[in-house]
Amino acid sequence: MTLKLYNTLTRPQKPEPFVPIDANNVRMYVCGPTVYDFAHIGNARPVIVFDMLFRLLRHIYGEKHVTYVRNITDVDDKINARALRDFPRLPLNEAIARVTEKTATQFHADVKALGCLEPTHEPRATDNIAQMIAIIEQLIKRGHAYVAAGEVLFDTVLMPDYGALSRRSLDEQKAGARVEVEAHKKTASDFVLWKLSSPEEPGWDSPWGRGRPGWHIECSAMSERYLGETFDIHGGGLDLIFPHHENEIAQSRCAHGTSVMAQVWMHNGFLQVEGEKMSKSLGNFVTINELLTGQGSQGLPPYKGDILRFNMLRTHYRQPINWTRHASDESHSILNRWKETLTVSLNFADQSRDDYESVQPTSEFLDALSDDLNTPQAIAMLHVYAKARETSKMSLRQLFACGKFLGLWTFDSLAVENRESEDLTTIDTLRVDHLIAARKAARAAKDFKESDRIRDELAKMGIALKDSKDPKTGEIVTTWEVRAAGPTEVAR
Ligand code: AMP
Ligand code: ZN
Repeated sequence: MTLKLYNTLTRPQKPEPFVPIDANNVRMYVCGPTVYDFAHIGNARPVIVFDMLFRLLRHIYGEKHVTYVRNITDVDDKINARALRDFPRLPLNEAIARVTEKTATQFHADVKALGCLEPTHEPRATDNIAQMIAIIEQLIKRGHAYVAAGEVLFDTVLMPDYGALSRRSLDEQKAGARVEVEAHKKTASDFVLWKLSSPEEPGWDSPWGRGRPGWHIECSAMSERYLGETFDIHGGGLDLIFPHHENEIAQSRCAHGTSVMAQVWMHNGFLQVEGEKMSKSLGNFVTINELLTGQGSQGLPPYKGDILRFNMLRTHYRQPINWTRHASDESHSILNRWKETLTVSLNFADQSRDDYESVQPTSEFLDALSDDLNTPQAIAMLHVYAKARETSKMSLRQLFACGKFLGLWTFDSLAVENRESEDLTTIDTLRVDHLIAARKAARAAKDFKESDRIRDELAKMGIALKDSKDPKTGEIVTTWEVRAAGPTEVAR
């Protein structure tokens, strides 16, 4: 098993073997949230994707040999605006503290529900202002930054390969600039490292007066503090390639005089909702919290965090995802079937935890993940193990180990479900699948009497069916549930 990763910086034909700088301390930095609002389902994507990579790196190099840093951006003009809007009567600093605390707490609850491990370090920007000032001073000393009109700006022209990550040349950037160059900037692409604050705005003393950092410098400072001047992997969503990651690279390399900031740059594809870009004006903005609670304005049912995680991992991280209710319901159905199979067939109540924990994920599963985090291929293996359950208890143990590796369940979570669903022991999931296939065939043959008879037979077994139409293919997809509440309602 060789870990191969796709590097946005070098844009190779194929993912390339990953060689860490120091196998005793593999270091990864991922840009975290700006804490001014609830995280949406798009924000969940990098968190889940890089959690998967963190798990894989820990497996390969050992838990103690991987350092994962995901920051919290708690100084930003969007936060100030939100604080003024939500707490107009409070002094701005108190209002900001309320907004950032509330949002960060919610973010932690959300990502925990999505089954993500805590990163090794989660630094906050406001705890690292001194480090940011030090880097800016270094940039000025080396001639890469200048002071103008109360701002400190990075001089992009003086960095020969500025634009290498996003593959934009400075000439293109100049030609494409739609706005006049602000008078104090030497070049349109020069960006802010530090800006002055008004007395009400949050600010810190600096050699350039009381002010606050630009966004990009935050990540340069926090990554250096926890991971060093050069480290292995830097991740985030596709939208961060330019300008955020381009500018992080410019600052860090020019301040430290290094040829790379991170060796490998990884970017997850974007997520759309029901085929459209998520936006508040379209009314299709879905937060993680709304999905978990089912209390959003979209009328969506609640989905457990493991379903949202599984649904995300069914698409390769570099592909775009179209988040749909249909796919989420399908993920729900598959995941529940697997969990039911495991809780019914494996003896979580009596058998020892060690017995289960000792089962390792299979090599074919790990090979798939090692191929640039090919989670759809890895999940295809879970389907194989679930199907093979008839012939071998071993395949069920493989299903358990691989699903656990994906963060879909743990020994404890399945043991709890096992206790909660004693009734399930009477359900023969193979028979249910078989009857659903027979009903589909009957409907295709327009034999509705037979299809109704099968539905009734399933109902007697305590199984409720739910038919929904795939909006793309028009095909009817049937999912099933153990009926818990009313006779017609599908319980989640
Ligand atoms: P933000 O708070 O907007 O800086 O975003 C935090 C993280 O979520 C960044 O890594 C973004 O690239 C990522 N992100 C934001 N929106 C989406 C989306 N619709 N799909 C995938 N990733 C996203
Ligand atoms: Zn960043």
